[in-house]
Amino acid sequence: MTRFDIRKRDGLARNGIFQSDTLTLKLPAALAVETLFPDLDTRDGTNLPLCAPSALVKRYPPHNNGQPVTIHPHLDNPAHSGDCVMVADWQTALLNPRNYVDWLIGLKEKTPVDTAWYAPASGLPSNVHILCYSGFDLFDFRAVDLKSAQMRFCIPEGEYPADALDSGICTCGGCREKNLKMHNRQALLHEIALVTRFIEESQLRDLVESRCRLNAAQVAIMRHLDNQYQFMERHMPVARSGVMRANSGESLQRAEVRRFAERVITRYLPPKTDVAVLLPCSAKKPYSLSQSHRKFGRAIAGRAHELIVTSPLGLVPRELECIYPAGHYDVPVTGYWDAEECAVITTILTHYFERHAYRRIIAHLEGGALKVARMAAEACGITLEYSCLEHPTSDSALNALDSALAGERRIKDDRLHGMVSYQFNIDLDTKGTTVRGHYPELFYSKKNVQIFSIDTGTGLLRPTFDGWNLIPEGYRVYIDDFIPEGDVLIPGVVTADPGIRDGDEVLVVGARAHATGRAALPADEIPRSRRGVAVRVRKIKRL
Ligand SMILES: [Zn+2]
Repeated sequence: MTRFDIRKRDGLARNGIFQSDTLTLKLPAALAVETLFPDLDTRDGTNLPLCAPSALVKRYPPHNNGQPVTIHPHLDNPAHSGDCVMVADWQTALLNPRNYVDWLIGLKEKTPVDTAWYAPASGLPSNVHILCYSGFDLFDFRAVDLKSAQMRFCIPEGEYPADALDSGICTCGGCREKNLKMHNRQALLHEIALVTRFIEESQLRDLVESRCRLNAAQVAIMRHLDNQYQFMERHMPVARSGVMRANSGESLQRAEVRRFAERVITRYLPPKTDVAVLLPCSAKKPYSLSQSHRKFGRAIAGRAHELIVTSPLGLVPRELECIYPAGHYDVPVTGYWDAEECAVITTILTHYFERHAYRRIIAHLEGGALKVARMAAEACGITLEYSCLEHPTSDSALNALDSALAGERRIKDDRLHGMVSYQFNIDLDTKGTTVRGHYPELFYSKKNVQIFSIDTGTGLLRPTFDGWNLIPEGYRVYIDDFIPEGDVLIPGVVTADPGIRDGDEVLVVGARAHATGRAALPADEIPRSRRGVAVRVRKIKRL
């Protein structure tokens, strides 16, 4: 009997513990495969090429008794929760990015989630980042040993002639002993340790974006995966607590970035006003704590809806500025926006303004942000006003902004309404709500009963039971007839709303108890897993 407990997810990547009768293994890992699967060498049908035609694969199916269980794009899933599954020949997929992504998604969709994924003869220091990012967890030394036989020196940047061994590039035990095989194995283990660390910090994407630059096929794999937005979005947590580094062009296509823009366009409900000011972003997050935004705030004095134009997110309404990734991204600021950035962000602005009409839109912008605002205005046939002939924080620009708003009425600050619409997709009646606390740590009440608080790590709202009463549908996890003690585990879940993502605030609903908490995985993975936490519970209410 084997089992795989996922301890930490980062997109498709996982850190976890794999256990068989004889050993316990922290994944991701690389080890001499004989120690884990002693009879693998002698088993039939375990090495069918990935590109083999369907008829051939079906005529020679693998003999799947014991571990690992061979899975193949052309075969029905033979694996159960807790198995170690093996995708033979995966090293060939690395050379063919389009097939890599098609095969990966096909295999991931049909295989239980809590299975450990073994890619035999594939792991190198230069590729384990993308293999783990794709959801592989277990590797062997075959690929590095082969490189050693070919007199190639392996490092994360690639494979080089063996004389690099005494060049000072590496000072590991293998290099000190002039032992190429030992160095190559250690380099693989070292890189896996690094990847594990990045998964733990929820920042594997940042490592992949930097590592893949020396390998065109890896860049292509990352881009093809980004193009599979429906698949990737489902696996991406709604929030991380760390920084999202948007340092490359690919940031625009990250599922989290696209999801934010999509929700701003399709879910978010702006306050009742017909005057908007478009503002530049600030390096400091949330924006309103920056020097520049304090100045904008004084000039605007609540007389307009504030919309921040920024790359790569597109448009951040003031009410959403704390929510991940708006409160958490870091971008290189040059003032110059490239053509793709302009095109993508213009589309976001255009969709937003087509959906939400304003009587006046004042662009208090310069540079790339001003350019995309102009392009969007042209695309949807609206006229912008400009308050910014000099730098947006200059006295003359701020005075112009103030004068432009002369005579406009102060609008009601209703941050809660905007946040609830974005997070829960509902139009909440916020009449009679009061707020206390020190921004951004806020608490909302109605008739002196607390309904929401803000998680300052992620910027998301946390509803209390009274808050959930105001959210009529969605984000529910239905459990069996029991009272949870601590977290809700996967086997206790009957069904869950399909829109739930890892990290979402959810209401646990059962015949004998309700609970508030945070989803630990996306809804569609619950029926495909046997073990683990489904909801990290905050509060339980017996019925
Ligand atoms: Zn070394």
